[in-house]
Amino acid sequence: MSDTPRETPAYDPQNIFAKIMRGEIPAFKVYEDDRVFAFLDIMPRAPGHTLVIPKAPARNILDIAPDDLAAVALVAQKVAKAGIAAFGADGVTLMQFSEPASGQEVYHLHIHVIPRVDGVPLKPAASVKEDMAVLAEHAERLKAALTA
Ligand code: 5GP
Repeated sequence: MSDTPRETPAYDPQNIFAKIMRGEIPAFKVYEDDRVFAFLDIMPRAPGHTLVIPKAPARNILDIAPDDLAAVALVAQKVAKAGIAAFGADGVTLMQFSEPASGQEVYHLHIHVIPRVDGVPLKPAASVKEDMAVLAEHAERLKAALTA
C-alpha cells in the first residue's frame, strides 16, 4: 500500500449509464427529476433491482457534489419504499461501489436498490440478463408504486 493519496480518475461521459440518460441506449426508466434518474438493472439480482443515478457527471462517491448525493439518496429511499410495495418484499438492500477495488464496473455513480424477500438470496452480480418483457412489467409496477 502506498502512502501517496490516490486521485479519483476523471469522469468519462461515454460510460454506459451516461448513454442511457442521453437516450442513446434503451433502458427501463422508473423515475426522473431535475437531478436524478432511476432505471432497472438489466441483470437484476432480485426482481425490482433499480439503479439510482445523478444527472450530474459523477464517477462515484469520491467525486459527487454533496447536493447531488443528497438528491440521489432521497430518491433511493423513495425507490426502496416503492420496491417493497411493488414486489411484496420484506426488506431492501442498498449498495454503492466506488472504484475497481470495491467491485464498481460502471463509472457513473449509482446506488443499487434491491427489494428482498425473507430467505431468498441475491443472485450473483451481473449474472443473467433478464427477459425484456419481465423488465417492462417490473418497471410498470415500480412506476405505479412511485406515484401511488
Ligand atoms: P457496479 O458493479 O458498477 O456497481 O454495477 C453495475 C451494474 O450495472 C450491474 O449490476 C449491471 O448488471 C448493470 N448494468 C451493466 N450494463 C448495463 C446496461 O447496459 N443496462 C442496465 N440497465 N444495467 C446495466
